[in-house]
Amino acid sequence: MPEKPIFGKYELGKVLGCGAFAKVYHAREINSGKSVAIKVINKSNISNTNGLSDKRIEREVSIMRQLQHPYIVRLHEVLATKTKIYFVMDYVKGGELFTQIANKGRFSEDLSRKCFQQLISAVNYCHSRGIYHRDLKPENILIDENGDLKVSDFGLSATTDQIQSFDGLLHTVCGSPAYVAPEVLTIKGYDGAKTDVWSCGIILYVMIAGYFPFYDQNLMLMYKKIYKGEFRCPKWTSPDVKRILSRLLDINPETRITIEEIIKDPWFRKGLKFIKFSE
Ligand code: ADP
Ligand code: MG
Repeated sequence: MPEKPIFGKYELGKVLGCGAFAKVYHAREINSGKSVAIKVINKSNISNTNGLSDKRIEREVSIMRQLQHPYIVRLHEVLATKTKIYFVMDYVKGGELFTQIANKGRFSEDLSRKCFQQLISAVNYCHSRGIYHRDLKPENILIDENGDLKVSDFGLSATTDQIQSFDGLLHTVCGSPAYVAPEVLTIKGYDGAKTDVWSCGIILYVMIAGYFPFYDQNLMLMYKKIYKGEFRCPKWTSPDVKRILSRLLDINPETRITIEEIIKDPWFRKGLKFIKFSE
């Protein structure tokens, strides 16, 4: 058997996933035998593709270092060479929420609610610290061995410091097409908290339905659908879920439900006793 590559105190294993800028490996801490995940980012990749250079990476590190929450992937340490950055984080065993939805076809209403509660708990924690994820989708949400969510991939997140240097609104068009809020598609600027809430709405819809509320193979037609904001719920959707979905996927960010309102919603609160919303 070929020897596994060693990186510092870690033995690198198989590739867990690939994204636009990074490769994620399973690894083992040699001394303790503990599993970790190591996200490797090629610096040159980033600066060559969109000119964001080290700033983007520094931002991801400083954001993730601040976050300690039961439903957010924990960052252990950051290592760097001249050309690469290594994020050592918790290994999350159950893979992506995306794969679990795909395998099951769709989630039951109870399972969707449990996942949604944990997602909102994590997002609320970030927002209360002035951190907006901006790329919430089932590929960036992992499931641990207990079936609990771990929000991951803060590669695109923005902090309020950054926002304050503008006009109070964000202007970068980012995120993944199917999860992007309508106001992100305009040049007017948007509020990171409200667009994260929109993405949470798409995620809830996808869990319940097993497909997207706004979809077209043609990107421009898909954006048109998002912009219009008309969607239909599958026939098995309960009135309570329909109601909260229509509030989450409200194309007007001013009237869209806020996290504070979500937390007060009776459908959302069912069986909530295990989740703290202290901050
Ligand atoms: P990118 O910024 O390139 O999208 P991600 O951080 O989303 O990178 O990681 C890419 C993929 O790697 C994820 O979609 C997931 O499948 C896998 N992955 C990432 N972090 C972990 C982790 N901590 N544990 C297990 N798998 C992970
Ligand atoms: Mg990702």
